Amino acid sequence: MFTTYRLELPEPVTLNKLQIPVFTHMFLQNVSAHKVQVDPIQGKRISVTYLSSYPREQIEREVAIFLERFTPEHDEASASSAEILEPELNMVELDEPPLEKLCSCCTPGNQRNISDDLLEQRWLTLLKNQELAYHRPIITLLEYFDQSYVDYVGRRIGDCQQRQYSVLLPASFAEKMNYFHSAPMHLLLATHLSHDHETMKSFAADVSANNGKLPQDCGPYLETPPYILQSAPCYKVYMEMEDQVFEDNTAFVLKGQSFRNEGKRVYLLERLLNFTMREFVFLGTPEYVTRMRDLTLGWTIEWMEAAGLKGECALANDPFFLPGKVKQNFKVPKHVKYEVRADIPYKNDTISIASYDTHGDFFAKTFNFRLRDNAETWSGCIGLGLERVVWSFLQQYGLQSEHWPAAIPESVK
Ligand SMILES: [Zn+2]
Repeated sequence: MFTTYRLELPEPVTLNKLQIPVFTHMFLQNVSAHKVQVDPIQGKRISVTYLSSYPREQIEREVAIFLERFTPEHDEASASSAEILEPELNMVELDEPPLEKLCSCCTPGNQRNISDDLLEQRWLTLLKNQELAYHRPIITLLEYFDQSYVDYVGRRIGDCQQRQYSVLLPASFAEKMNYFHSAPMHLLLATHLSHDHETMKSFAADVSANNGKLPQDCGPYLETPPYILQSAPCYKVYMEMEDQVFEDNTAFVLKGQSFRNEGKRVYLLERLLNFTMREFVFLGTPEYVTRMRDLTLGWTIEWMEAAGLKGECALANDPFFLPGKVKQNFKVPKHVKYEVRADIPYKNDTISIASYDTHGDFFAKTFNFRLRDNAETWSGCIGLGLERVVWSFLQQYGLQSEHWPAAIPESVK
């Protein structure tokens, strides 16, 4: 189980809203903790959640060492770039979805942590470097929840254009949206050796001299990364739409891989470096994009209720797309992101299984696509993390399929 260690700081950690995710990410890379929260108002209170079995003195020591290193002057550059961000965004007030009603009130039958069961019963096997092998029951559940979500929500959305893309996002495309400023800690880059004969030869010689291991410093052999591994599949839709004029509100449906450098936080199906996302993307008028957000939130909660998955909708504050610096004036809703969270009963916690981002005109302006007859074109997307759906379902009901909700078909059990 987990214990929480709270500490009051004499001086506030001077963090603005863009720096808090960077701070928490760095914190969790350095401290053996499960979760860290910084009081966003005064920045003087930090709560650290860690495994109860871990020695308290050790945690206190790690926290002290980390905080000593994290001094405000290290972050002056990003603080000033964040200040530029605020005035150049034009915040639009939209009606909030009815959060208090968006709750899937089921009664899960399992309170135990199923992590060990998954490994003992070989539904998952752990490979080296925190890699996993999914076995048949997991694969079946991933396929089932994906198809059932597409059937339930996709059918209600109506006509959707299907797409399939690779996992590689050209770096030049990412640069256009100032991607590299926004969440550098989650970046995974894809590159290759420089294409000249001499480089290849000396690389091979270096590897041979190093007993087959990669050279300590690969930098001199590599090209500047031409690609990044995408952090969400929907980016490719905006890339495809670049410089296009389209006639009507349009929905897309796609499934793809997402990559996020989670460092030491990787944990079974709960937090993965590479996971599968089912996405719907909406391009059109602000009214259409906002209406689809509200409708799909409601349908997702209905779908969860039908499957027996307990959870609720909540406001979230880590939009995936807003960069640290903006070059033009974007119109974005005041609340750009909502998420659906599923219960994890054994630790009395919830995890995000789906997010609902309304980008305003950010992608339309950045990539110059628009509706033919409308002055204003917006975009929005919803993404369902399939591994987390399966994880939360199994945490709620256990591995014995006779205890699963009646809605789960026999073919899945
Ligand atoms: Zn998306």
